[in-house]
Amino acid sequence: GFIMIATTNPATGTVEREFTPHTDAQVDLAIAKSVVAFEALKDTTIAQRAEWMNKVADLLESDALVFGRLMTLEMGKPLSQAVGEAKKCATACRYYADNAEAIMADETVDTEKTKSFRRILPLGPVLAVMPWNYPFWQVIRFAAPALMAGNTGLLKHASNVPQCALALEELFTRAGFPDGAFQTLLIGGSKVEAILRDPRVRAATLTGSEPAGASVASICGDEIKPTLLELGGSDAFIVMPSADMDAAVSVGLDSRTKNNGQSCIAAKRFIVHADVYDNFRDAMKTAMEALIIGDPMEDDTNIGPLVNEDAVKDLTHQVENALSQGARRVTGAEAIDQDGAWFRPGIIEGVTEGMDAYSQELFGPVAMLFKVDDLDAAITLANDSSFGLGSAIFTQDKAEIERAFTEIEAGGTFVNTMTASDPRLPFGGIKRSGYGRELAREGLLAFCNVKTCVVA
Ligand code: NDP
Repeated sequence: GFIMIATTNPATGTVEREFTPHTDAQVDLAIAKSVVAFEALKDTTIAQRAEWMNKVADLLESDALVFGRLMTLEMGKPLSQAVGEAKKCATACRYYADNAEAIMADETVDTEKTKSFRRILPLGPVLAVMPWNYPFWQVIRFAAPALMAGNTGLLKHASNVPQCALALEELFTRAGFPDGAFQTLLIGGSKVEAILRDPRVRAATLTGSEPAGASVASICGDEIKPTLLELGGSDAFIVMPSADMDAAVSVGLDSRTKNNGQSCIAAKRFIVHADVYDNFRDAMKTAMEALIIGDPMEDDTNIGPLVNEDAVKDLTHQVENALSQGARRVTGAEAIDQDGAWFRPGIIEGVTEGMDAYSQELFGPVAMLFKVDDLDAAITLANDSSFGLGSAIFTQDKAEIERAFTEIEAGGTFVNTMTASDPRLPFGGIKRSGYGRELAREGLLAFCNVKTCVVA
């Protein structure tokens, strides 16, 4: 069907700019260019690629405000957070510029043969299907390791962030990477299958919803191509009696409402010990009500609009449905009636097994609170989810911390801090949150051939 690739300001609902989608012929040309660029890039030295990647980092830092404004315009996150995102991207670029050489070095293994070793080689053009919520970070955390390894990137970004997508393409070109090393395709989701089936494209990575991930992975399964998926989450945030309550409340609130609540690794299910439940709920309510909702371009704004009006409708429906099934509203969690995609952050409690919200991801600033009697119940509840992305626990108890590390089913467990990505640490999920790991050593190896090399 018709796909609109456009910038719609979620703060006003105004369509600011529309783009003509690329034709099939343009996509074909881009893939051809990607192959040519790969032939050139794989033969450059890691030092040369590091020089370009450090230049990408320099530009991300020097133009952080320009990039930040684009992000805020297209998806509504507060400008300070958008500028922070551009700067964080620079750290990932520098991490891979500094570490690719060591990660990719031949690794000798002692065998009875003269020589046995691993050599890390790039695969070729990789398609990245990316979402709008962290329009720069999601892309850079794929592109920085992929290009440092010598692969080339083709980006199919979400249709509502075309200006970010084009700025990213320009960024790699300005930094000196060969023409075609990183290209943006302005296409809708329906054009992805043909690209995945194109033999010139060697692998794919997707961050986004489960249906999009399942579609890309099944096509790549059919084509025997590697994929990496980073999908939704409904992360548990456990609070035990020994926790520093002020920290638990402020970090929990930040984790739930950052990025206007639209993060895969946001704390979404607050699982609180009965001894401290009322205190936690009341403090969270007070803190939530103090957030400043407003123009995301303003410095003191905590909460801007959701990504679009459909997101407001969907989240409102999830909350209303939970309330109709017996949950209770602690505060907020409702649409704000004004032009644009406005929603008041809030808290609901009393969600129990069998209600729809119990197993759904709330992709917006609504915290669900659960009361439990002990850590067993907390971990059981945390694991009673189809997702397994991040998780957090607030406690001072060493035994509880050890149990959380081992027993919570997730790609990460964070103690007395919130789940967050860091270029030096692997990032990803299990269960329906996806598979594969981005960032760190794993993120570079994700799109490489770990070749076995043996000499008799
Ligand atoms: P989507 O999964 O629809 O979008 C992510 C990307 O996938 C976009 O580039 C989109 O393109 C593309 N896409 C969508 N469907 C297909 C398909 N069948 N084949 C190939 N590509 C496809 O996410 P939404 O923006 O619609 O958000 C919906 C839900 O996704 C959220 O509620 C949340 O649960 C999850 N999500 C998770 C994120 C995360 O960080 N893990 C980030 C964003 C969303 P196009 O825009 O052209 O449709």
